[in-house]
Amino acid sequence: MNMQEIILEEAVSRYLSQHRQTGIHLKAVLFDMDGVLFDSMPYHADSWHTVMERHGLHLSREEAFLHEGRTGAATINIVYHRQYGKDADPELIRQIYAEKSEEFARHPEPERMSGAWELVQKVKACGLTPVLVTGSGQATLLERLAHSYPDTFDRAHMVTAFDVKFGKPNPEPYLMGLVKAGVAANEAIVVENAPIGVQAGVAAGIFTVAVNTGPLDSKVLLDAGANLLFPSMQALCDNWEQVNDKLLSN
Ligand code: CA
Repeated sequence: MNMQEIILEEAVSRYLSQHRQTGIHLKAVLFDMDGVLFDSMPYHADSWHTVMERHGLHLSREEAFLHEGRTGAATINIVYHRQYGKDADPELIRQIYAEKSEEFARHPEPERMSGAWELVQKVKACGLTPVLVTGSGQATLLERLAHSYPDTFDRAHMVTAFDVKFGKPNPEPYLMGLVKAGVAANEAIVVENAPIGVQAGVAAGIFTVAVNTGPLDSKVLLDAGANLLFPSMQALCDNWEQVNDKLLSN
């Protein structure tokens, strides 16, 4: 076995013992959106920073990456609490989130993450179901997906902010992803780039693959519980055959 095979082997046995499963029988791949399918996180981080500063709230671009995946209200309240020791007024939250969405829309259309399109094609060619699981609730979301990932995610295989009550790190979005795919936790994997998203995938009992596409230290993703880590979507795509073989035959 080469190094990569040993790492895979260990990751799978650790997952199986932690979750008291006897095997993974891969049928679906649950993809996060921002920072996984789209190279959109720098625009989100920038929009958060700009709008929060406008309201006297201090959130650096790097910290925005740490909170990636939380609902807008949760992100705003973390900063508001730090500065004022209480939750922000719901009207202020609504206002800031609306401004943040406007600011984001001023940026160019996000590009597909390098390697993501090719990976999705490989997943489909293996007969696996791709499912989208995002905390985003932007109105342009469906349009952008249909344009950049045609014939990939139909509405029946999509979990967005409109479908869930709790955001990540709560497992709910990924549990709902399993329901939409019609599979059990050990019949899917999660592909995530954010620590909070990794926590949600792990809490849902799903083998969670982290791709470090942003500026955070990889340790943050491993500490969040990632079962496997790749430095980019391209790296996951390049190693897909090996990952898939292992997850089909353990
Ligand atoms: Ca993400």
